[in-house]
Amino acid sequence: MPQDTPDVLVVDDDPIVGQLTLNLLKEAGLKATLTSDSEEVISFIQKAPPKLVILDVMMPGVDGITLLNQIKSDPAVQNIKVVMLSGKSFAVEKQRAYKLGADLFIEKPYDIQTFANQIISVIKGGGPKGMPLAPKAPPQPQETKSEYIPPQNVRIRIWGCRGLSPSIPSQPSRYGYQTSCVSVETPHGMFILDAGSGIIPLGHEILKRGGPKELWILMTHFHLDHVLGLGVFPCAQRAGYKIHIGGANDPEKNLQGLIQEVFYGSFSSFSQPPKAEIDLYELQEDFYDLIPNVKLSTLYSNHPTTTLCFKLEMKGKKIVYCPDSEIYGEEATALQDYDEKLANFCEGADILIHNAQFTEEDYEKHKKEGHSCPTNVLELAAERAQVKEVVLFHHDASYSDEALDWILANSQKLINQKKWKIQCQMAKEGLAIEL
Ligand SMILES: [Zn+2]
Repeated sequence: MPQDTPDVLVVDDDPIVGQLTLNLLKEAGLKATLTSDSEEVISFIQKAPPKLVILDVMMPGVDGITLLNQIKSDPAVQNIKVVMLSGKSFAVEKQRAYKLGADLFIEKPYDIQTFANQIISVIKGGGPKGMPLAPKAPPQPQETKSEYIPPQNVRIRIWGCRGLSPSIPSQPSRYGYQTSCVSVETPHGMFILDAGSGIIPLGHEILKRGGPKELWILMTHFHLDHVLGLGVFPCAQRAGYKIHIGGANDPEKNLQGLIQEVFYGSFSSFSQPPKAEIDLYELQEDFYDLIPNVKLSTLYSNHPTTTLCFKLEMKGKKIVYCPDSEIYGEEATALQDYDEKLANFCEGADILIHNAQFTEEDYEKHKKEGHSCPTNVLELAAERAQVKEVVLFHHDASYSDEALDWILANSQKLINQKKWKIQCQMAKEGLAIEL
């Protein structure tokens, strides 16, 4: 590569496009140099800094985005203008390039009439800078202008109740396949428990009803099935919405990092950053007064990674949500006091939504993985905690409707045999409970 200082360094592994670019720039009176070796770029611009670098996004060796990041994060060369050139014109790719400091993003094939002038304009300090809007707005969910009216009572609704598993059946299911998300709507505000894929239909419903415009999303933990829908939560894309997000203080993955990833990184399929006002709260095992007249208590759950169980108390009612929690049952020893802690936490609950992922038989193969079987859940809820109603939750994604019907029938049989007073339901999408 020549070492005299050019105005423009063109980096392109395609010799035809590279040569065309070079010729257009030279014809426009610019001193331009071409290289197809992306590995040399940094050392070249350190020795002979050009005014502008044109980077092809997809190149063997060091790709254009990596080079852009290296240039814009090195104080010695970060003032050099960078134009990205790419055949990949997805809005997220552009957004990523602008976020890393690109001065312009041009799609291939570019317009040979205007190309050189666009480059000159960037060198002179003009040209569009900053994050552009997506060329076309993505399809937006239905929204009505109706005024939201909060309910008089407490309304619980299941939007997703499955876990993830290595095989997902393709036949339809009466229970649904969305992952963990439960809404608890109170006269004082709405709580959304976990942000699995079920949060997406919930978001559409909130937009349709015109609110509530202030929402509390509480996340028990950051396993994929519980955060899957957050980056595409429809209300996050609406100005005028205020979303408080509370999540477990996991030392491995902090809430701030997770939010960055889901709303601004590759996890989000939105082409623009969220328009809603979002604030974050790290939660630990404690009591919280989040909104007037509602008390939140949390308990660390027996599940891999830092995981919480939530208890909401309002209007004399108690709702407990433990989507991922392993009750030891008969296996419990004096040294594992989780069953006892959980029973105290759930004491007298009106509703306990608890993990019952595996049948007893499958649970034998999955002990110490952080999930429970219905028998252990029912025993703890009915005998030790005097819970009024249990909702078996977080079904294995590979279980058929027949298997889930069988689990409910068997649970009912056990309740009858033991003469327990507890009510039992299987969680399913659309299940609504009013307290
Ligand atoms: Zn889960």
